[in-house]
Amino acid sequence: MNHELSHQMHARACRSIPGGVNSPARAFGGVGGQPVIMRRGDGAYLFDVDGNRYIDFIGSWGPHILGHRHPAVIAAIQGALELGTSFGAPTESETELAELVIDAVPSMELVRMVNSGTEATMSAIRVARGFTGRDLLIKFAGCYHGHVDSLLVKAGSAATTLGVPSSPGVPKGCTADTIVLEYNDLDAVTETFKTQGDKIAAVILEPVVGNMGVVVPQPGFLQGLQTLCNKYGTLLIFDEVMTGFRVAYGGAQALYGIKPDMTTLGKIIGGGMPVGAYGGRADVMRKVSPLGSVYQAGTLSGNPLAMACGIATLKTLRAADPYAQLQVETARLIQGLKHACESKGIPHTVAQVGSMFTLFFNPDPVTNYTIAAKSDTALFAKYFWSLLNQGVYLPCSQFEANFVSAAHTPADIDATIQAAKTFFAGL
Ligand SMILES: *Cc1c(COP(=O)(O)O)cnc(C)c1O
Repeated sequence: MNHELSHQMHARACRSIPGGVNSPARAFGGVGGQPVIMRRGDGAYLFDVDGNRYIDFIGSWGPHILGHRHPAVIAAIQGALELGTSFGAPTESETELAELVIDAVPSMELVRMVNSGTEATMSAIRVARGFTGRDLLIKFAGCYHGHVDSLLVKAGSAATTLGVPSSPGVPKGCTADTIVLEYNDLDAVTETFKTQGDKIAAVILEPVVGNMGVVVPQPGFLQGLQTLCNKYGTLLIFDEVMTGFRVAYGGAQALYGIKPDMTTLGKIIGGGMPVGAYGGRADVMRKVSPLGSVYQAGTLSGNPLAMACGIATLKTLRAADPYAQLQVETARLIQGLKHACESKGIPHTVAQVGSMFTLFFNPDPVTNYTIAAKSDTALFAKYFWSLLNQGVYLPCSQFEANFVSAAHTPADIDATIQAAKTFFAGL
């Protein structure tokens, strides 16, 4: 496959943008080589500047559950555009999206719109601390909550690690109040609560993890967290920026029947426009300015174009209810990938919830970050490049979720399985 124009444009981008990208994952650091520059998307496909077509399994890293350029979404944006791009004053569309969210996610009694998932988690944590009057947070290794200073920490090992920032520029003070534990390790959480429970403001987690590859909560883990949080007056925050409207219309909390105190959303809620949201129990959300004293604001929050895009996306999803079909097609894709691995005796394990999945080159079931980190990333890089050159665009790291959209046809799934077979056959 020819990527000549992509390479030229990337070289040009590198002269004005750090690494040539505006978000680091796009730079292909996890697989080596140069990124492909995209020109347009349509349905399940991406088209690059050299004219190559790819079956897209990143869906802009989550938002495009309906595929690119869904007609209802495009029409809604065009309609909103006629009225203006931003007013800095309330509009009806903000209420409409808020009502759709509350209807889908009943634990969110009040909701505030922001512009990204990062802003949503950052704000939720501020509110949780303001509401409880406590500082400590528990997060889990391998869970990503955006580039919030206090959440840019992960455990270096399975042991409890207190506050070592994983990025320069984050002062120790920012992460000193963040306790990092291993995902699915309820005993560690229980022990931590025993000694410091009355100081912990919130437990934040991805209720299904997507950001170390897909990792599923073990039976009882989410329930156990909720019980502990209730006992100690700590707020349970589900970061559903990825899972919201993805694993089910009502998110992971609908799937597992848990009502967190607070929820953060992003990605699908904006349908491809920059939208995030945070919300939860009314008594907690009444702490937010202007009702309460916890300050949080945004010049472009609730932007009318973004609201229109989000509203059209959610309404289309609610009406079409593609979730059962997505689950079936994703399972079929995974079976095909597994058979392709098995035919060559490649150690692998697969995790799937609905239309998000990861094929790990790892012999063991991946239940936490320590196990995920043992995956064969060199094999993943070869797999990634082989599929890319066969017209299948996968997330460019072993530690990411793949997304199937409602626009993928059975033929797209078959073609993807065939590309994987070709790769493994050639090993
Ligand atoms: C993507 C993501 C974020 C960050 O959202 P941005 O819009 O990139 O700031 C936060 N939490 C989770 C679970 C995510 O997947």
